[in-house]
Amino acid sequence: MENPRIGVYVCWCGTNIAKMVDVQAVADDIKDMENVVIAKDYKYMCSDPGQELIIKDIKENNLNRIVVSACSPRIHELTFRKALENAGLNPYLFEMANIREHVSWVHLDRDQATRKAKSLVRAAVSKVNFHESLDKLTVEINPATLVIGGGIAGLSAALSIAEAGKKVYVVEKEKELGGHVTKLDLTFPYLYSAEQMIRPKINKVLNHDNIDVFLNTNIDETFGYIGNFETTIHTDKDEEIELKFGNIIVATGLKTFNPSEIKNYGFTKLPDIVTSIDFEKRLKTGKILTSTGKEPKHIVIIHCVGSRNKEYKEFCSRVCCMTALKYANQVRSALPESSIYEIYADMRAFGKGCEEFYEQSSRRNIMFLMYDQQGELPLITKASAKDKCQMIISMREQLSGDDIEVPADLVILMTAMEARDDAKDIAHAVGISMCGNEFYIERHPKLDPVATTTDGVYIVGCCQGPKDITESITQALAASSRVLGSIAVGQVEVEVTTAKVNEDLCCGCQTCISVCPYTAISFDEEKNVSVVNEVLCKGCGTCGSTCPTGAIRCSHYTDQQIMSQIEGLLLTSIPKKEIPEEA
Ligand code: SF4
Ligand code: SF4
Ligand code: SF4
Repeated sequence: MENPRIGVYVCWCGTNIAKMVDVQAVADDIKDMENVVIAKDYKYMCSDPGQELIIKDIKENNLNRIVVSACSPRIHELTFRKALENAGLNPYLFEMANIREHVSWVHLDRDQATRKAKSLVRAAVSKVNFHESLDKLTVEINPATLVIGGGIAGLSAALSIAEAGKKVYVVEKEKELGGHVTKLDLTFPYLYSAEQMIRPKINKVLNHDNIDVFLNTNIDETFGYIGNFETTIHTDKDEEIELKFGNIIVATGLKTFNPSEIKNYGFTKLPDIVTSIDFEKRLKTGKILTSTGKEPKHIVIIHCVGSRNKEYKEFCSRVCCMTALKYANQVRSALPESSIYEIYADMRAFGKGCEEFYEQSSRRNIMFLMYDQQGELPLITKASAKDKCQMIISMREQLSGDDIEVPADLVILMTAMEARDDAKDIAHAVGISMCGNEFYIERHPKLDPVATTTDGVYIVGCCQGPKDITESITQALAASSRVLGSIAVGQVEVEVTTAKVNEDLCCGCQTCISVCPYTAISFDEEKNVSVVNEVLCKGCGTCGSTCPTGAIRCSHYTDQQIMSQIEGLLLTSIPKKEIPEEA
């Protein structure tokens, strides 16, 4: 191995890191470490000038190893690897120390934070000494795409890809396409017909030469890797079909919260307490009637049913405030003499045109009453014979502070959006992860919001979290352009920091096969050894730490690299170094 000549760069991240870490002290500390030729601090290492600084130093000082001490590698590891490549160095001769998420953002004491940052940088420098050049690995892309879910997001993604001339398989669990949007009457904020929006898309997908639609269909576990996936699908006719495809778009949508869980609302106990989806059905008939066939005089719409509440769902379902206003407008137009009450906790009007919609709605003689979402919820009870209504809603109105009673003939509950019951099965089938509330997790919430940590698998629409139609379509188009991009290139680079089995040391116990979370290891019966599929392997290291004979070596995380990293972490001071000769 050539003599390491290491350049170290400590990033300020504006004030993000510099406010809590003495970045100059960190750079000064590392200067004395063995094989370190240059150690600098700079305001934004990820910026073009920051990258240029690295490239210039590599060329002028013959650096052959680089450490950047900055934010999470998930955000900028690729940026810096690219900078190394641009300077003619192998991109894997690089190590990153995270002193933002792991230090400045989680500490309050500047001295201690600076000490910890020094330790992390020493660990990174110790490790990078033993880094080796790794060769890139590419795989061919199968140009077909599997779209799971035939709602508005799935249909939009499928059409976008099919219209670019590429094959798409749409697998839908239900007997019809269209998903949640087919249940809606009008959409907010412009009150367009949902049917007129979704029907042409459904027809286009059903008649498109490049799209095969499978209804009433479930998928089995998916095998393979980006560019080369395969699965088996089942139709309600006991038919099995094998599909092969290069990318997967998951667009499985949502389910709505069951309000029976909330005792105060008496859902199913009284006939005219309905969910928002039930109310859409009534709107679609063209008449707003109670269960006894009469026009309601008092209509109450309750927000945040199951949302934003620690006992049920903590998140905001995001679309129900505007849907509630849509109902108020529709009722006002259909029943001009009725009294309409919006019982809300907070009003969310974040989308384009939504604040204006709220403002216009508030001029249509609609009574807005505020309740405390974290306190006692409004209580719905049956009205007595003397009341001129069917139900009474008792609540403390937050703006006035008064305990009030609201008359109601029809109550609409704005129920929360939830992950579907089969979310876990789909996640398992395609190898993606879920967060605590069972929505799927994107690769990065800001920088890569439709990709997942499984290359070639994308998530769009409400399976990723509550969102409106506009956002669902935006995500669908974003994912389809990512898919089309990979198809156009024809091949894709995959992770090369993978595990390898030393056949001479492998005893054939197959422990590694049972622990690999990516099913990347198979068994060679003839040789009696395990074999890693490098394309499937994500380099997580689990097999390496489990193998009883030490037969598995994980590139980039060899025993020597890990041990030197630990030694660097434990250094309390830097021993005097020998200045390396020019390479
Ligand atoms: Fe509540 Fe409005 Fe959020 Fe829906 S969008 S959960 S009604 S605050
Ligand atoms: Fe071979 Fe190690 Fe896997 Fe056992 S755990 S099969 S020894 S590689
Ligand atoms: Fe599987 Fe992780 Fe081992 Fe790769 S490093 S083979 S992903 S356990």
